Amino acid sequence: MGELGTMRKVFRVTARVGILLAAAVVILVSGGLEAAAEMVLVEPLAARARRAGLRVLAGRHLVLATDRPVRDGDGVEELPAVFDQAFAAWCDHFGVDPADHPDWQCFGCLVVDRERFRSAGLLPDAIPGFSNGFCDDNRFWLMDQPNPAYRRHLLLHEGAHAFTLTLRRLATPVWYNEGIAEFLATHRLEASGDGRQPTFRHTPMPDRPEDVEQLGRIEEIESLRASGTAPALNDVLALSVEEHETIADYATSWAAVAMFAGHPRYATDFEALQRGPLRRDFNRRLAGMASWDADRARRDFDAVTADLDYGWDFNRMAIDWSAGQLLAGPRSIAVDASRGWQNSGFAVAAGRRYTVTAAGRIGVGEVTDETDGAATPLESEPDGITLQWYRGRPVGRLLAGQWVTPANGGRPRFEVVAEGRRAELEPLVDGTLYFKVNQAPGRLADDRGRYAVEVRPRRPAATGRQ
Ligand SMILES: [Zn+2]
Repeated sequence: MGELGTMRKVFRVTARVGILLAAAVVILVSGGLEAAAEMVLVEPLAARARRAGLRVLAGRHLVLATDRPVRDGDGVEELPAVFDQAFAAWCDHFGVDPADHPDWQCFGCLVVDRERFRSAGLLPDAIPGFSNGFCDDNRFWLMDQPNPAYRRHLLLHEGAHAFTLTLRRLATPVWYNEGIAEFLATHRLEASGDGRQPTFRHTPMPDRPEDVEQLGRIEEIESLRASGTAPALNDVLALSVEEHETIADYATSWAAVAMFAGHPRYATDFEALQRGPLRRDFNRRLAGMASWDADRARRDFDAVTADLDYGWDFNRMAIDWSAGQLLAGPRSIAVDASRGWQNSGFAVAAGRRYTVTAAGRIGVGEVTDETDGAATPLESEPDGITLQWYRGRPVGRLLAGQWVTPANGGRPRFEVVAEGRRAELEPLVDGTLYFKVNQAPGRLADDRGRYAVEVRPRRPAATGRQ
């Protein structure tokens, strides 16, 4: 977690000697032009751990030493195998060929009692007093956690640091250091049918809370938005190592990396950027991407944090920010049930009034009969269905929205200005009108069809007689 960044410089200067004494160091050269990475030899550390009576669990890419007592079903035994699967996913993310690194290995310590590791010579005094975890090249430490999913996440977070520091020579600004570690660590563990080793699935955007117990990144961003304290993209990108320390910092750094990696506007450029050098000029190179436009990126990030939820689908939730033409007469638009906020192509004026009418029938997924498993399609009209609700409104309900900056502060967001089959609309601001069908972002892919919507300016009210 955070200790990587803040303490790293201190550690670099003062602790390297200790590490050199603790174990032999081997120099690996990855790629002709890349700088040499210092990798601590793992086997002497593992031998030291065994001599100290610690449990040592070995996979191909991770050797894990722990003082946690053996407990059936706690998932600790399977961590090295999960790590090996994650290693393959990380290679894939960066376009690294795992066949080039068959012997890449790191040494992790899963710590209940720091003193046991200290006295075994596996936790040098020079290592700063971390609260959750700490990584130095291919060594990491993490404090044991009661929740297996969160323990696994922290282990993979530190492992992702080890991977990026050694195989990618990462030295980027802290939002990317921490954001990419969170991004690479976020996963779901799928049980195998035959009771063998479960399977690691990299899910940078988790599908549901049960997949990432105790992680709370999405909930953290929701609460930042609710309290009006969510950062703008520029604030996230500009965070210094010293400032990056709270859960909110981790959550927003993760969200920034997830957006650039997943949003159709940036995904291709960002993949190329990440596969290039990960150096201190990373923000400058980000701003040099062909798809970069600072204002638009800031709005895209605000739109993500405003409505973020499990199963977020960047393709379906991408927003067209182009300015609409001021509406002079009646206009029609087809609103797609399978997308987030859609630009109507026209703008409305504050102080005027409009009538919105909608018609049609859409598919909003299905319900499964618990007794016979039969699926019944669910259909909706513009008022929505009463069977399912999302964020305080019926699923399937037509929503009209405007992008506004809240009067009481906080980042801009979409505000609903009209809804349902027939509504009077009083714009909050001069600006483009957007529409969507109310639905959880993670369920949009199940939805089908369009509503036909008409927006009609009303005549200005007659001035009263004096
Ligand atoms: Zn970290």
